[in-house]
Amino acid sequence: MKYCIHCGQELDSDAVFCTKCGKKQISENKGVKQENEGLALGIFSIVFCWLPILPFVFSIIAIVKGSKHNVLGTLICGYIGLILSIGFLAFHIFMIVAVLSGMLPMLIEYLSRLGETYFPNMQNYLSSF
Ligand SMILES: [Zn+2]
Repeated sequence: MKYCIHCGQELDSDAVFCTKCGKKQISENKGVKQENEGLALGIFSIVFCWLPILPFVFSIIAIVKGSKHNVLGTLICGYIGLILSIGFLAFHIFMIVAVLSGMLPMLIEYLSRLGETYFPNMQNYLSSF
């Protein structure tokens, strides 16, 4: 036996709609499934944070779902995913700007010069192969 989640009317355990108020009954399983969906999206956003845009969107959905169902794990995953996604998004944008503005060769030259300064034997080591 269960009761309407909206008006409290006694219902058959397999009833989908309330016989009194007519509102749809959402099963507990569905709520758990949605919570897990949020958590899955949060984890997805962490694992794939190096991709542009998509994990950023997923992490926001995870945060929304996590706060809606009050699930701390989903919220934490969502926030970690969001921070990582923003970081990598910034990196992607930086690289795109660097390529478009012709800064990349300068950047590579700068980095290789930096490498030569700190690892002077690197060139010999690499050319020994
Ligand atoms: Zn009802």
